[in-house]
Amino acid sequence: MLNIVLFGPPGAGKGTQAQRMMDATGLPQVSTGDMLRAAVKAQTSVGLEAKKYMDAGALVPDQVIIDLIKDRMKEGDAQDGVMFDGFPRTVPQAEALAKIVDVSIVLAIDVPDERIVERICGRFSCGNCGAVYHDSFNPLPKLGCTCGAFSEKRRADDTESTVVARLKAYHEQTAPLATFYEDAGLFTVVDGDRDIDLITTDLLNALN
Ligand code: ADP
Ligand code: ADP
Repeated sequence: MLNIVLFGPPGAGKGTQAQRMMDATGLPQVSTGDMLRAAVKAQTSVGLEAKKYMDAGALVPDQVIIDLIKDRMKEGDAQDGVMFDGFPRTVPQAEALAKIVDVSIVLAIDVPDERIVERICGRFSCGNCGAVYHDSFNPLPKLGCTCGAFSEKRRADDTESTVVARLKAYHEQTAPLATFYEDAGLFTVVDGDRDIDLITTDLLNALN
């Protein structure tokens, strides 16, 4: 059982690294952001509630997130462990998680604020397979997405004005979690302001 928490500000590269680590770890990526966007699209009650927070760049209430995670962790593919991406984001979420599963390690991807806007405003993904790209830093290959059926998707909240709110939420509500996991002896920091492949190597080394 290996439960990894990928930690870092919005746009740090958590999703990018989770996708790259999937083969090496054999663990599924559990992204609360992806789960919420699916709920918004399906217009479920959770989606309708979450949308107003997401549009404003604010965090969705803890209980909504905790209920989503409780259900997700009952699924078959989560039984050997998962890679949490974008969860937990508050101390109450981390406390709730501790009652559901043991966290094995927290891998923090450190990226300075001044890099975040350019990362988020250039982000797009493949609507078919979910691969994450960037206009300048990780462009679509000349031959197209490796899945062979690329369709471009951009997030409604990936705008400069929303990023400011998301960064504020990160510093006020999420960053204090670093101390929570440092105190538990679980916190490892990797420099995220480098080439994507170098970061993947460091993250996998940290797991060994
Ligand atoms: P997060 O899941 O933490 O929000 P993403 O993985 O979606 O972050 O990455 C945000 C954007 O930055 C994407 O467009 C991605 O291609 C790009 N990106 C990810 N890692 C790096 C990196 N090391 N250097 C430059 N750009 C990166
Ligand atoms: P990011 O690129 O900012 O890391 P995510 O896809 O993780 O984006 O999250 C998008 C939005 O979904 C957040 O701005 C927030 O409104 C909501 N969200 C995602 N995960 C959580 C969480 N664990 N707690 C509260 N809100 C969340």
